[in-house]
Amino acid sequence: MADAITARGVIAREPGKPGVVEDFSIPSPGPGEALVRILASGVCHTDLSAKNGVYGTDYFPFLLGHEGSGIVERLGEGVTNVKEGDYVILAWRAPCGACRFCLVGQPHLCAASLNASQKMKTHDGIELTPILGIGTFCTHTLVHAKQCVPIPQGLPPEQMSLIGCGVMTGVGAALYSGQVKPGQSVAVIGCGGVGDSVIMGAKLAGATTIIAVDVDPTKLEWAKGFGATHAVNPRDGDPVARIKEITGGFGVNASFEAVGRPETIEIAIWCRDLAGTCVIIGVAGQDATVTLPIAKYFDLGGALRLSWYGDCLPTRDFPLRANWYKQGQLNLDGVVTRVISLEESEEAFHAMERGETLRSVIKI
Ligand SMILES: [Zn+2]
Ligand SMILES: [Zn+2]
Repeated sequence: MADAITARGVIAREPGKPGVVEDFSIPSPGPGEALVRILASGVCHTDLSAKNGVYGTDYFPFLLGHEGSGIVERLGEGVTNVKEGDYVILAWRAPCGACRFCLVGQPHLCAASLNASQKMKTHDGIELTPILGIGTFCTHTLVHAKQCVPIPQGLPPEQMSLIGCGVMTGVGAALYSGQVKPGQSVAVIGCGGVGDSVIMGAKLAGATTIIAVDVDPTKLEWAKGFGATHAVNPRDGDPVARIKEITGGFGVNASFEAVGRPETIEIAIWCRDLAGTCVIIGVAGQDATVTLPIAKYFDLGGALRLSWYGDCLPTRDFPLRANWYKQGQLNLDGVVTRVISLEESEEAFHAMERGETLRSVIKI
């Protein structure tokens, strides 16, 4: 059996403290596992939240990152879905095929998604928690082989990495969760990397009115570059009234909330036309609360729903998105705002907080 390997990655040891590049140890892949050499990793807001202790303090130290592309370097026994040398995007949903959702044909809701069973460890022997069961701010990581989704060789790793989380979440929310149809109107509240991906998905679905909503004028300009037909800044007046004005007084067929705050969720709920769908994508804080006047909600009809990971099936969707990028239908080049080194991840979080980037991408 081959030996464990020493890798380098960004490790967050304590809540609220900067992540630091350290050596860590990866066991040789066991049955069903894959060692992946990371080529690129997007810096997603979830990494910042985890690092800040938003998801609790029990799981430190974290190996940051969960949006990555790379090359399968070594496989454990019994792996048949990938081979060494495959170019892959890593998925944080790898349906188990056996849980109560998988068994009734809803693998996109899998409640027992597969991860590597062995643990990676810090150089001083502490078990690491890879973010969302992946860990991509690093030279190598250990995952379940079914988390590796092969894509064609030759596509740029930086752009491909984004399909692993943010882009998939946004495009999938439009196509699958919101079921946007040709000719429909859409509002997207929060125009970061995920919101702009909703805009791309809505455009691909044939939406004819796509309203970008954000308090940042730069983000609104960027949103137009991805296909938004209108821009609304809530600082200039009531956004619901403005959205209704743009849509002939009716409101939109589908609204998407990509911020995770009560006030933006309320905009998304009330800017809909009759029977419209409101899709919540943003992750709200633990104490966030929305009051829902039921009679008003009933009269409007439609649906209020959550979208986890764009209701995607990575094995179906990742190669499809890669192909759409290749055909020029998905503007992933526009989402990659900065390409940085492993050592610059902390600065990338600050740039994200200052609203300067859609995505910084770490190139290994
Ligand atoms: Zn399952
Ligand atoms: Zn993410």
